[in-house]
Amino acid sequence: MKLYLNGHGYHFECENLCRLFFTYSPVRRVEAPGETPSENAEPYAEAVINEASHGYIYEVKCIYGGKRVSREEAHPEQSEYALTRMLYEVFAEITGNLPKWGMLTGIHPVKLLGQYENKLGEAEAKKIFTDDFFVSGEKYALAKRTLDVQKPYTKTKENDFSLYVGIPFCPSRCSYCSFISQSTEQAKKLVKPYFDLLLLEIEKTAELTKALGLRLISVYIGGGTPTTLSAAELSALCEKIFASFDMSTCTEFTVEAGRADTITPEKMSAMKAAGVTRISINPQSMSDNVLRAIGRNHTADDVRAAFDMATKAGFTNINADLIVGLPEDTFAGFSETLRETISLGASNITVHSLALKRSASLIEEKLDISSHKDSSLAAEMVNFSIEALTNAGFEPYYMYRQSRMAGNLENTGWAKNGDICAYNTYTMDESSTVIACGAGGVSKLKDPYTDRLERVFNFKYPKEYIDRNTEILERKERIRGLYEQFRKRIY
Ligand code: SF4
Repeated sequence: MKLYLNGHGYHFECENLCRLFFTYSPVRRVEAPGETPSENAEPYAEAVINEASHGYIYEVKCIYGGKRVSREEAHPEQSEYALTRMLYEVFAEITGNLPKWGMLTGIHPVKLLGQYENKLGEAEAKKIFTDDFFVSGEKYALAKRTLDVQKPYTKTKENDFSLYVGIPFCPSRCSYCSFISQSTEQAKKLVKPYFDLLLLEIEKTAELTKALGLRLISVYIGGGTPTTLSAAELSALCEKIFASFDMSTCTEFTVEAGRADTITPEKMSAMKAAGVTRISINPQSMSDNVLRAIGRNHTADDVRAAFDMATKAGFTNINADLIVGLPEDTFAGFSETLRETISLGASNITVHSLALKRSASLIEEKLDISSHKDSSLAAEMVNFSIEALTNAGFEPYYMYRQSRMAGNLENTGWAKNGDICAYNTYTMDESSTVIACGAGGVSKLKDPYTDRLERVFNFKYPKEYIDRNTEILERKERIRGLYEQFRKRIY
């Protein structure tokens, strides 16, 4: 899609709105107006603000499918909301599509709803969501339900923090993945030096957080696939964390086991013995056909066996990630996947809507993504999951959105019997500090006295992480400086 913008700085939001309606047509900003496409050519849009004698004239237009829709409005001042609302209305009219989340393009809709409720009350917050942002009644209800369930868990203390540890290796690369993870086959040589430096970073982080008087409340080992490590390495990693930090205040320790093809009884027992309280086994689908299509090297039977190993090792809090919109999937296939995942005994089930990043090989290889493009099928699957999980006693407790998701829907984490993952609520609500170790890790420091969030980045790739490890440790020192700044402001 070609997009001409002029007279304002609201480029990011305008581009996001284009992606909402024209998901499969990459947005290209053009410098000159009026690049009118011929029929069947890519869509074209303009969003312009011109100064006038008593304020501003807003002009928005779109040409698509042989039609042309435009709007013109006068406003006393420049307003991002007014311009994007006009663009939304023009796109909705020309495509005949009314997105379920209306014009919301941000990734934290529940956090946003909570902010409006705190500031303006429940009724006004609802009105803003449904009347101003055009969010559908069903999505408002889901966001509200999630907010109410997660509220008690997001009340943390000012010196609380969570630890994230990243293992950026996977047994093979899934075709929809845009994560930095490398297959262990490709990266065999890197695993050992990476692991040794990671233990060092954990040790240094513990020294730093101790000096700052921070209190560890949850640990999350994610990836990639942490269970690409051996049972001995998993034990060593957990032992390093227990030996380095004061764990007496830590109530949750998750390891994302992820792929069934990496899970063994030895690894399960090692994690259980080391003090892990919660694991994830992520089938994504229980259809072998779909698993093959997305490049996973395991079958649904392997997932069943992994659940059995986890239960035998004594795990009761097990999460399972599922994805709506995968190639080759059908409504019947997805509903069977969900039914079986519930009956396998998962206490957390996270229903994702597939987000297609341009780097993922799913697009590059031009696999069949019709189930992703069929937004009514994706919506049907998500609606089924809401009903089935509710009937099975699950409650939604965290949610986030991404761009280019199937049906422009959402990812929702569900839990039963209050068995939630507090770490997920901290990250999605951005209500508490997370300090990250490992490649691709981003520490997010929550200023306890304001809403500000400061970020400190580690290098993305394992090779960079290894080669420039001294810089990583130096960057960690920034955390000390930032906490000192937060605290200075109140004394
Ligand atoms: S398991 Fe996850 S991180 Fe690894 S390749 Fe697949 S989607 Fe990417």
